[in-house]
Amino acid sequence: MTPKIEPDPPVEFSVGYEDLKQRLNINKNVIIPQEFYDRLSDLGIRFDIKLQALAEHSRDWWPLSLQWAQKAMVPTFPGVVIYPTSTNEISKILKLAYEYVIPVTPAAGRSGVSGGVICIPGSISLDLTNVKEEFSVNEDSKTLTVSCGYFGPEVESKLQEDFALTLGHFPQSFDISTVGGWLACRSAGQLSNKYGKIEDMVLSLEVVLSDGSIIKTGTNAPKSAVGPDLNQLFVGSEGTLGIISKATFRVHSLPKYKRKAAFSAQSFANGLKVCQNIIQREANIAVLRLYDSVESERNFKLKDKNIIIVMDEGERFLVDANFSILLEECKDLEVLDEKLVDDWLENRNDVSGLGHFTKMGVCLDTIEISSDWTSLPLLYDEVVTSLKAVEGTVNASAHQSHAYMSGACLYFTFAGISGENSGENFNETYYRLCWDAVMQTVEKYNGAISHHHGIGLNRSGYMKTALKESFSVLEGIKSQLDPKGILNPFKLGLKVEEIISELP
Ligand SMILES: Cc1cc2nc3c(=O)[nH]c(=O)nc-3n(C[C@H](O)[C@H](O)[C@H](O)COP(=O)(O)OP(=O)(O)OC[C@H]3O[C@@H](n4cnc5c(N)ncnc54)[C@H](O)[C@@H]3O)c2cc1C
Repeated sequence: MTPKIEPDPPVEFSVGYEDLKQRLNINKNVIIPQEFYDRLSDLGIRFDIKLQALAEHSRDWWPLSLQWAQKAMVPTFPGVVIYPTSTNEISKILKLAYEYVIPVTPAAGRSGVSGGVICIPGSISLDLTNVKEEFSVNEDSKTLTVSCGYFGPEVESKLQEDFALTLGHFPQSFDISTVGGWLACRSAGQLSNKYGKIEDMVLSLEVVLSDGSIIKTGTNAPKSAVGPDLNQLFVGSEGTLGIISKATFRVHSLPKYKRKAAFSAQSFANGLKVCQNIIQREANIAVLRLYDSVESERNFKLKDKNIIIVMDEGERFLVDANFSILLEECKDLEVLDEKLVDDWLENRNDVSGLGHFTKMGVCLDTIEISSDWTSLPLLYDEVVTSLKAVEGTVNASAHQSHAYMSGACLYFTFAGISGENSGENFNETYYRLCWDAVMQTVEKYNGAISHHHGIGLNRSGYMKTALKESFSVLEGIKSQLDPKGILNPFKLGLKVEEIISELP
């Protein structure tokens, strides 16, 4: 029998945040019964109800929740943080949660930027960062099977040092994000033009469903024709359909050869056209990024440029062939010092400036979207214009970060500061106006409202419009796989009436 669980101090839902209130649309607390804790203790699974653990697990890198944290405010406290170490433990926890109808929100690196780990107050935060049961490599077929709790540096150092292999997945949040989080959010690494996004790398998954049953999707085979691809049902599901406990990926030999270059295009639109031509001539250069003049100046300290930075790696013949295409397509552009690429490589994961601006009260965020080449130049102009039109904006800019045969990802940054007439709630009002403006423009051009950050709570209000009639298919899948609605409620825009009506 566990000692009686008295949260310290009593769990409370901080209802002061308009944006969150609207998104969660509840002001009730889950009350976890003592019996649940007793049974969890009998299973020998570690959990924590201390205030610090609860507060830490209440937020990720969603800029609004970072701002709340600056003011020592917590969006919603979970009732308990549970730390499984294996698939079996995840399964046992879910069986219990299913029986007692307690919502479960997976939390991994908590580097997500969309509020994906913010849970229903009083419910379970399932910390997956200790799930590290398996790390096995098939050197012959070049595959890696790895548990969900491994962080980026752990994956790459083991692969590179012990096997001379690489997954090729290097998101900017590499140090602070996990395998499970990458899959749950459809992550993209900085070398994705060559290695693909995470969804392109996965061969099979192990998933724990809401009732605790364990399933496997996919096989070791490189491709299949065995019905719809169920891997892709769970990739991007952000913990709403199941917990991804393990995955098998294809991996690559470590590259032996690298080449770099930098250019400046006459305009952002001209730079986009150059990138399009390079990629459409099948030169899948690992890094091919284009910055508008605002971001060129900010990142590279060069005025009036639209900088393209290039880095490719792999077999010398292939890299040189890609570079032949690159140099032909860039022949009319100004050639810049390739040291710019070194600077970018060195500083690419440094986001220390973010904290500085947040502390100063600047409302700042990034929005990554994707669209086809035909619409990208127009979309860029319209988004920047519409962001600048929102009162308070001091910056609106973008870069192209991931390029494909038919289109690319544009990564916008906006920042605003409150003026005299802004009122107390400047940040949340300003923030939502900016997001609405960008989402509407992306919809207009039939683009994707997220390229790799996912939906979480922040984009949940745009999901129905984005998926149109097919949103009901997603709702159907949700109710089939999670009939009690306990898995990460409210994310992906999925309303979960059942779970709310169960609350006291
Ligand atoms: C500075 C910075 C830079 C970033 N750069 C990039 C980038 O370059 N590319 C990119 O793709 N993203 C980037 N991100 C966003 C973020 O790192 C990714 O979304 C990442 O994939 C999240 O992984 P995580 O382990 O931190 O997951 P978390 O933030 O803990 O969780 C994210 C979501 O997935 C769910 N989840 C987590 N693990 C599981 C699991 N095993 N099973 C089911 N659901 C799960 C959670 O409930 C939540 O909804 C960046 C973030 C920051 C702060």
